[in-house]
Amino acid sequence: MTTLFIADLHLEANRPEIGEQFLNFLANEARSAEALYILGDLFEAWLGDDDPNPYYAGTKQSIRDFTDRGIPAYFMHGNRDFMIGEDFAAETGLQLLADPLVIDLYGQKVLLSHGDALCTDDEQYQQVRAMTRNPDWQAMMRAKSIQERIAFAIQARKDSMARGESLTDEIMDVNQVAVEALLRENGVDTMLHGHTHRPAVHEFDLDGRSATRIVLGDWYEQGSLVRWDTDGPQLEFMPRQAPPNETGTRDPDS
Ligand code: MN
Repeated sequence: MTTLFIADLHLEANRPEIGEQFLNFLANEARSAEALYILGDLFEAWLGDDDPNPYYAGTKQSIRDFTDRGIPAYFMHGNRDFMIGEDFAAETGLQLLADPLVIDLYGQKVLLSHGDALCTDDEQYQQVRAMTRNPDWQAMMRAKSIQERIAFAIQARKDSMARGESLTDEIMDVNQVAVEALLRENGVDTMLHGHTHRPAVHEFDLDGRSATRIVLGDWYEQGSLVRWDTDGPQLEFMPRQAPPNETGTRDPDS
């Protein structure tokens, strides 16, 4: 059996090809998995579970169709969709996870994280993160109308760009000292995260032991996943499939 991990899809109506690949993934590859973990930034933005945008309704239904099959599926917040809450979880059947979280994968302890908390060199971002993850701040935001939240998000993006930080969360990498501290603190040698959009498997020495940090890729140009089974992890990429022909079926002669 196999456990699958994905992150950083950044789903939005303006990028329909990513959503189509995600739905295809849920309807095919993911169905043979023992469990599915989404490690944050499933959505480009999330204003609240009460957002009536029809694009989200379709995506939520597709996730529900997947979890209704009885496959455990988990979601950890990213820095774009940290406002996802219990209503979304109830609607989709996704189980919300704390960040970080240590799980057991076929006898190996693995620390899961979105990864943004490890980008400690970006002090300004860490201040924003601390503010926006505060339950009081989130309650204040949820009390606003969707229109007010949209206006707030647009202004926040403008402010960020004015400071020249529009791409900060993609450009900044994790801090190695923070990585090692988190592994030590949790007594593990292996970490899996997303966020940086720098897919790779990093091996390094941690207090005389071999440690591993696996980074998932984003879905902007292709899909990315980690497939973990009894043989360990595999970082893989999924090229975009050509669109189906008009009937949605394959030519039987090809
Ligand atoms: Mn992120």
